[in-house]
Amino acid sequence: MLIVMKHGASHEQIAAVVKVIEELGYEARPMGGRNRTAVGIVGNDGTVDPGRFVGMPGVSEAVPVSKPYKQVSREWKDEPTVVELPGGVRIGDGSVVVIAGPCAVESRDQILGIARALRDAGASALRGGAYKPRTSPYSFQGLQEEGLEYLAEAREATGLPIVTEALEPGLVDLVAQYADVLQVGARNMQNYPLLRAVGASRKPVLLKRGMSATISELLLAAEYVLAEGNPNVILCERGVRGFDPASRNVLDLTSIPVVKERSHLPIIADPSHGTGVRSSVTPMALAAVAAGADGLMIEVHPDPPSARSDGVQSLYPDQFVELMGRAEVVARAEGRSLGPVPPVKAQRAAPVHS
Ligand code: PEP
Ligand code: MN
Repeated sequence: MLIVMKHGASHEQIAAVVKVIEELGYEARPMGGRNRTAVGIVGNDGTVDPGRFVGMPGVSEAVPVSKPYKQVSREWKDEPTVVELPGGVRIGDGSVVVIAGPCAVESRDQILGIARALRDAGASALRGGAYKPRTSPYSFQGLQEEGLEYLAEAREATGLPIVTEALEPGLVDLVAQYADVLQVGARNMQNYPLLRAVGASRKPVLLKRGMSATISELLLAAEYVLAEGNPNVILCERGVRGFDPASRNVLDLTSIPVVKERSHLPIIADPSHGTGVRSSVTPMALAAVAAGADGLMIEVHPDPPSARSDGVQSLYPDQFVELMGRAEVVARAEGRSLGPVPPVKAQRAAPVHS
């Protein structure tokens, strides 16, 4: 339930509502919005009696939240959530934010070189897995902490914020020391201990849709993160299992308008995993922009045939340059623009030796 306050309700009136909620044994989440102030009730398993609140000074109405995912729902918060990353990158503000990089960090040279090329092409953030969830235990599992160090170096060199996967709860603190955004992969979308751990970390979370998860299940997974007190969740449509081996997955573009209708959280599209086919990536990226995605996540590798993972779906750098040009045209046709390229941090002055 959501207790909506009257315009201009005083701090004391809001505090009185919070007190009643706490006396009932629930948690109160006061939210000051542009259009209204409301106090959300969490922790209740069943319905709450609206009669406890209606008629209290300053209370406008008590609105039941009908969705099981409440804090992520539009009923709870109508204004779109904007997730802010370092460098002035804002996901959900109407711009199309492009996150790009290789599937996995493979070497220092690979990630530094590609990060510079992506920045020059107009990307807003750098992706790259240091801990890789692989279908086979014999496949490359990632460079692990060494990979995180290279990512941090690439951020230092380019200013691009880093998006990288936290594979298990025990790794969240370590990955959060390096990353600007913690990615939860498709295979982990319903790993509830991991969702709670990234929720407790306070870093922005990129939550990928499970390969056979419904949109409701995706939103309920996001609810775990918000329930821990972390509102900075970016949803990611990365394709669901289909029956046709012509593509690795079926990028469900319908999920973008459906999520936008049901939730205030931003949603981006990953046409690389969503198709698994290099030649399909750019067409589906453009379609996702047209469908209203808040951003794109694109795999790009300096030499895809030699990639240690996902080479067949990775773009060559020049293909990424072309994608960016075309994505900008589609964004502009919709009255939008691509996200900013973050400034490179001012280089520290070299030490002076006398
Ligand atoms: C990835 O982003 O490289 C990845 C493993 O994605 P997903 O979890 O969507 O398969
Ligand atoms: Mn990948």
